[in-house]
Amino acid sequence: TIQIADQVETTMKEAKLAALSELSTPALFLAETQVGGHGRFNRPFFSPKGKGIYMSLLLKPNHTFSELPQYTLLAAVAVAQAIDELTGKETQIKWVNDIYLEGKKVCGILSEATSDFESGRIASIVIGIGINFAIPQTAFPEDIQQRATSLFPTGEAPVNRARLIAAVWTRFFDLLDQLPADDYLTIYRQKSFVLGKTVCFTQQGIRYEGVAESITATGELVVRTTDDVKVLSSGEISLEKY
Ligand code: ATP
Repeated sequence: TIQIADQVETTMKEAKLAALSELSTPALFLAETQVGGHGRFNRPFFSPKGKGIYMSLLLKPNHTFSELPQYTLLAAVAVAQAIDELTGKETQIKWVNDIYLEGKKVCGILSEATSDFESGRIASIVIGIGINFAIPQTAFPEDIQQRATSLFPTGEAPVNRARLIAAVWTRFFDLLDQLPADDYLTIYRQKSFVLGKTVCFTQQGIRYEGVAESITATGELVVRTTDDVKVLSSGEISLEKY
């Protein structure tokens, strides 16, 4: 199922509502613009009309909750590879799931799961992807102007958005079919924007700085600080500097 809307609060919300219905899955929800677009921790995601890609995929897999991080990493790899393939550019993945181009964020990914109360298994997974497709660089709000970029920053795209959307999901389902093979992890690490770099983060009110050493199979980032090794999980940490 594919649903395309002109304007929604968020495509995440559309997909999560549909999760409660009998709609067949996988189902994809697209919108030209989102009025309440947000990323992790409810931070706003700039979603202007017509020049971006805002979409959420609803899946109802029969997996356990522990596998959710796989979907997040896998989605990041699928988007990064699809963009590279279509534009000839080379993206990087900023842990956990932001796609970067030339040091700036070009795409944000968000995944959420609900579990079935009785079995404890995943009832549904929603993967939200926002790509700055042909948003002119000058159109970004001032506070993210230096940190955000667009695949086609002049505002003119030589390819259609639909081609990229198709490439993303084709790649995603390819990688999903290959599970439990973990080639996607190798690619994730190869394309990492943070491995080997100094990163900052705050944990329980304390600010730490350290070198990002590795990424575990379940998506944690291992950071070596001056006197400790910290294993960061995606739900709690935002990297500040890199
Ligand atoms: P980070 O803040 O490092 O980007 P994050 O993964 O937690 O990490 P999200 O919460 O997914 O980021 O996305 C929201 C953040 O992304 C906002 O705080 C803002 O800085 C930035 N942002 C908002 N809209 C866009 C956009 N269209 N393109 C790029 N960056 C954006």
